Amino acid sequence: MLDYVIVGQGVAGSCFALKLIREGKTFLAVDNGRHKASSVAVGIYNPVVLKRFSLIWKAEEQLKLLNQYFGEFETLLNEKFIEEIPTYRILKNQDEVKTWKKKSSMEELKPFLSEEISNSYDSSIETPFGFAEVKQTGRIELNKCLNHFQQYLIEKNQYLNEEFNYSKLEISEEGIRYGSISAKRIVFCEGFQVLKNPLFNYLPVIGVKGEVLKIETEAMLPKAIWKAHNFLMPESGKICLTASTYDRDDLTYEPTEKGKAEMEHHLKEIYTGNYTILDHTAGIRPTVVDRRPIIGNHPLHPNVFLLNGMGTRGTLLAPQMTEFLYEFIEFGKEIDREANIRRFDKLWK
Ligand SMILES: Cc1cc2nc3c(=O)[nH]c(=O)nc-3n(C[C@H](O)[C@H](O)[C@H](O)COP(=O)(O)OP(=O)(O)OC[C@H]3O[C@@H](n4cnc5c(N)ncnc54)[C@H](O)[C@@H]3O)c2cc1C
Repeated sequence: MLDYVIVGQGVAGSCFALKLIREGKTFLAVDNGRHKASSVAVGIYNPVVLKRFSLIWKAEEQLKLLNQYFGEFETLLNEKFIEEIPTYRILKNQDEVKTWKKKSSMEELKPFLSEEISNSYDSSIETPFGFAEVKQTGRIELNKCLNHFQQYLIEKNQYLNEEFNYSKLEISEEGIRYGSISAKRIVFCEGFQVLKNPLFNYLPVIGVKGEVLKIETEAMLPKAIWKAHNFLMPESGKICLTASTYDRDDLTYEPTEKGKAEMEHHLKEIYTGNYTILDHTAGIRPTVVDRRPIIGNHPLHPNVFLLNGMGTRGTLLAPQMTEFLYEFIEFGKEIDREANIRRFDKLWK
């Protein structure tokens, strides 16, 4: 009997699997290899809400765990996935300049917001009111990390590439059975596709489609995450990524002309040079009504768990939510109220 079955190998399922490896637990990951938001995501991490210049929920703890988890992926898979890159927030008008000055002088924000406002040092970047640095930001190469981790799991015989068939799942007090597989527990990490899961489809997970453009600029741009309405990030040489869109109505997985036009419009607010589009991708973020993740066990089944609701910030949230869930399962430690699945029990019948 295995300790765990994990359904979904996006950033949530992968972080949970990494934790199980660290703790010496046995497990099998099941993934259909389709529609992985984590593979479309640019993987930017940033502890500041860039609209309001305030800190995100549990910013410092999440940053620490992000470095620990993706550092462990690097060691395990012998590859580099973390790249520290400054974020340069382009200020839109005098009001934003004023707000930035006020916020960046606040004690709790000082480690994250630089007080200095600079002017552009590259003529193709538009910064009429200047730009300022958000510190402790960067990018996780999520797609590369998850592909290498998938290979690792395949080699260890811990990966099943198939659509999880919910009707084959048998749940008892001792554990779960799925075909010929028995495990003490099952953890569902299906991202937006959780809405197809009959056990958890009562949850208020809302899909928000996002698109990304890969472009080649005519000249190399300064390495930074340039952020106005959207962001522009040089990836390597003249190749850059720009994103994103937020669409709650069109929940298809294909990139659209509308999304492309929107991204090109916002790109012009940052970059005035010529470029060629190389690639255009789309995915669906699993967001939640109250903008917090959903972690915990099913109201009726103590051996059936959920790790979901990573929303727009999977890179920062997945490591900490993994810690919350693991501590709850193995040691009975109460999950933080704001992320706890219990807040939605009234929706379950
Ligand atoms: C355009 C875009 C840009 C983004 N940029 C960023 C960013 O820069 N930084 C950031 O932190 N976040 C970003 N995000 C958000 C991030 O992608 C998500 O928070 C995160 O990927 C969600 O991870 P997940 O593991 O929950 O879901 P997913 O990555 O979607 O993984 C779920 C996995 O479960 C599998 N699965 C589902 N159902 C089944 C089934 N029945 N059987 C078998 N397998 C199944 C799926 O195939 C998939 O592989 C972005 C998202 C989008 C769409």
